[in-house]
Amino acid sequence: MEDWEQRVDGINWKTMLAEIDQALLDNLAAEIGFRSYEGLENASGFVAEDYHICHLSDDRWAFWNPHTYTREDPLFFDDKDTVINHIAAMFSLEGEKVEQLRKGLEQVRQAHNCQYCNYEFLPESGTMEWDTSKYCSAECAMESVLHEMKEDFVE
Ligand SMILES: [Zn+2]
Repeated sequence: MEDWEQRVDGINWKTMLAEIDQALLDNLAAEIGFRSYEGLENASGFVAEDYHICHLSDDRWAFWNPHTYTREDPLFFDDKDTVINHIAAMFSLEGEKVEQLRKGLEQVRQAHNCQYCNYEFLPESGTMEWDTSKYCSAECAMESVLHEMKEDFVE
């Protein structure tokens, strides 16, 4: 009986930890401009040691790490050269390695900004029924149309 209770305690504790982590990760995503951590991860490229890089719609670059987030905020850079210099200095990269880093950054697709919800997103590939460069989802595209219709009605 005691064993059983202990096991239940263990499970609850783990679930709680996972929830805290998820909230923290969603917080990190929101700070960078994404609706969810999944969206942020999707739009980011991996650098090294859990560091990731994301190219935002306003041309800035966000450099983030989920494991150091509690003590280190994500860093934002205005252009690609500045972020390359920062990462190169941080990991002591030189010559060929810096070129590899530059090529890696070029592979990172720039995020778009949803015109309805204002969150950053990476357009889905494939043909959708809405303008995927302007809206993050079918819901946002739809809401935007409804919103315009309402405005027309009021006028
Ligand atoms: Zn949206």
